[in-house]
Amino acid sequence: MPPSAGIDADATTGDPPTDAARRYYLWTIGCQMNQADSRRLAEALEARGYAASRRPEDADVLILNTCVVRQSAEDKVVGRLSSLEPLARDPEHRRILLVMGCIVGDAVELSARFRDVDGFFAPSDVQGLLSYLDGRHGEGQLSGPLRAVQVSEMVPISYGCDHHCTYCIITERRGPQQSRPLSDILAEARDLVSRGAREITLLGQNVDAYGSDLDDGVDLADVLAAVHEIPGLLRLRFLTSHPREMSQRIIDAAAQLGKVCPSWELPVQAGDDAVLRRMARGYTIDRYRDVVARIRAAIPGAAINTDIIVGFCGETEEQFERTLELARELRFDQVHIAAYSVRTGTAAATWPDDVPPEEKERRRLALESLQTEITGEINARLRGRTVEILVEDRQRGRWRGRTASNKLVFFDDPADWRGRLARVRITWTGPWSMIGDVETDDGH
Ligand code: SAH
Repeated sequence: MPPSAGIDADATTGDPPTDAARRYYLWTIGCQMNQADSRRLAEALEARGYAASRRPEDADVLILNTCVVRQSAEDKVVGRLSSLEPLARDPEHRRILLVMGCIVGDAVELSARFRDVDGFFAPSDVQGLLSYLDGRHGEGQLSGPLRAVQVSEMVPISYGCDHHCTYCIITERRGPQQSRPLSDILAEARDLVSRGAREITLLGQNVDAYGSDLDDGVDLADVLAAVHEIPGLLRLRFLTSHPREMSQRIIDAAAQLGKVCPSWELPVQAGDDAVLRRMARGYTIDRYRDVVARIRAAIPGAAINTDIIVGFCGETEEQFERTLELARELRFDQVHIAAYSVRTGTAAATWPDDVPPEEKERRRLALESLQTEITGEINARLRGRTVEILVEDRQRGRWRGRTASNKLVFFDDPADWRGRLARVRITWTGPWSMIGDVETDDGH
């Protein structure tokens, strides 16, 4: 594990007990793992009797769950932290300020920089943060009401990553892979489904390598098969996949298990072998093509989503052109595009960041406009067709859900569709979402 639980500024001064419910403010940024950690944290806090507060001013405990994958995320975290520090030192209302997530590397350096922070906790160290609060406030009786769960919930299956991609700070901050035992994963998934979740997304930095650090021989295919059997569960997803560890066993399991959605998060990062080598990704474009072909052969119509970094150190115009060609050739359903951002502490940070910012932006826009066109075409093929969506919630008066291939669909209907599967005839499509009419059992 990464350097763990935190610097504790003044653990010796226990706060006086009070009768009023304490309130917490939780701010989260970053990947699904952070969102899942925050959900677990909020649930544990509410079970201890803390009430959620929307405004930091009204809270007694301020918690930031942070991301530093790119400079832009780090800037937001630092901005938020700076705006909360005055609240933490307000003499009228002293508040506890706690920071967890990927900004927490060198806690000693951080505590010198952010003096009003009471504690820093490693990424996913929900337990460490809770123990700290228990120490400050007393353990409290586990009396609070159980939090409402969402239709679609996420369950971490492994933390950390054994790859050392040269651009990536996450592997340094989260440390080597630690897979959770299957029994823990199942207990959490069963609990969520019993409380109303209908879709579970299994999370890991590299889900395909799940179990390689355990000695029980269990792999992702086994986890999928076990979670699949939970009664009441309608859909099962998993992310993020790594092209290097993706096995035929995983592809076959996904193809055979009916609840596993035909949607893959398979980051390629670049379309050129030399760039991939410098990124230390551990595969070639041919290997990537082969994985995509095997997924598409086993699961016709499977959606393939990817991540791409443009403007990595030394990326030439020609190498970038190969990324565009690959996007044209493989026709991804979605591409998450990022301009390369230097992260101190990574191998690539010691190399010249030699693609100028305006050139990175030009490449980002070129790939984005190509991909918007492709995604638009893929979605347009659904016009006039009926798709099955799992309805998650209502947004601006419309029901919102996703197809199994993870495409966003909206429809209007007076009935309560939350948590149900709806058959929707698509009437309008765009690159980001679609609209349709729900088909009801009586044929309307
Ligand atoms: N484990 C995943 C990635 C997690 S980070 C994987 O195997 O790729 C999410 C995405 O952020 C990455 O896929 C990458 O596209 C992007 N990213 C990571 N580090 C970055 C950096 N230094 N600059 C720009 N984008 C970055």
